[in-house]
Amino acid sequence: MNTATTGEAVQKEDSMWKQKELINGNYARLARAHEEGRKVASTFVPGNLNELLMCFDFVRNLPEINALQNGLRKKSGAMVREAEKAGHSEDVCAYVKADLGMMMQGNIGPMGEPLPKPDILVLSYTGCFTFMKWFELVREQYQCETAMLHVPYQGDGTITPNMRDYVVKQIKEDLIPTLERVSGVKFDIDRLREYLVESAKAEDDLVWVLQSAKNKPSPIDAYFGGVYYIGPAFTAFRGTPEATDYYATLRREVAERLAAGKGPITPDGEMGEERYRLVVEGPPNWTHFREFWKMFHEEGAVVVASTYTKVGGVFDFGFRHDPTNPLESLAEYCLGCYTNLNLPTRADMLTQYVEDYQADGLLINSIKSCNSFSAGQLLLLREVEDRTGKPGAFVETDLVDPRYFSAANVKTRLESYFQMISQKRERHAA
Ligand code: SF4
Repeated sequence: MNTATTGEAVQKEDSMWKQKELINGNYARLARAHEEGRKVASTFVPGNLNELLMCFDFVRNLPEINALQNGLRKKSGAMVREAEKAGHSEDVCAYVKADLGMMMQGNIGPMGEPLPKPDILVLSYTGCFTFMKWFELVREQYQCETAMLHVPYQGDGTITPNMRDYVVKQIKEDLIPTLERVSGVKFDIDRLREYLVESAKAEDDLVWVLQSAKNKPSPIDAYFGGVYYIGPAFTAFRGTPEATDYYATLRREVAERLAAGKGPITPDGEMGEERYRLVVEGPPNWTHFREFWKMFHEEGAVVVASTYTKVGGVFDFGFRHDPTNPLESLAEYCLGCYTNLNLPTRADMLTQYVEDYQADGLLINSIKSCNSFSAGQLLLLREVEDRTGKPGAFVETDLVDPRYFSAANVKTRLESYFQMISQKRERHAA
């Protein structure tokens, strides 16, 4: 997937190798965890408290990542069907069904190694109700301990001191004592501070990379490439020196592409001339990821900003993990996740992206089984079109259920969207 083709040779950039090593290493640690006497925590991407879990030596397992990795490997369809056979409805989030189906098939992870039974499920509840139901089902299966952090929804679009204090109180009084008891490790706030120093460095570089797309041509694709760039910072690696090193390497590589006036690298090699610049809202489809991306890069369409790359933290509006206020900063991070933002805030964000990144318009990839993202997307589209004067478009796919990727439909819609942008440009020029 992360393969760039230069002439006959197939090359991977250093950052791609580093990321692969990180991911494989974590799956290997998960497979060995119990025989090495290590405890395992399962947790979700939005609002994850990775740095805190590291303070208790937990090996971290992220069910959405397992589902999407299985999707990329085209293994998820059978898992989804298995879960449906057991009674889960077609409308349930496909990540959940892929996870449950994987468990029913023996809980072998995407890399072919067994996944361990978690010792604790840690849920930071940041806006998506499905997360709660998902862990209820997993808990039923494993009968393991659960810790839930209730994160108030940003209904008014702001984080008040009360909201922050409420989350900090739960971290101090409930979460930390539970993690101490399950892990047998005493909490050390200085250890947390050290991890947060690493997180902030990595977040600086990640933001620099994402914002490099403001240039013309953009040296990155901030959706299809972006989902790789966010990987370490949104999952089991944020706070580690390895993740910091990954982002420093990635930044150097992107800076070189920028200096050379190059566009993004795609799975089929260097992208040709940049013809369309888009902002994309919604998660990608994983089962046909490469085919989906090809529909863009073949037409010279590059995604310059996306909301999905904010799902595990909105860092581009200034938030950084702060080692001087560790617990408050964890609370603010959870409160600020994209899934915890109301529709007007999302509309502001998308409008700003279209303007700041000089995009030709907003494309929504609406995910059939993700209610959290899909609710209100048509309203968002109209609002952003009205405010920017740029045309929008809407395609529908699914996360990891291959039955809902209709390549011909998606391609036709994209082609007419690109045509619409071209015509609008011509009219404007005339
Ligand atoms: S945000 Fe969407 S994809 Fe994620 S758990 Fe919720 S419904 Fe599923």
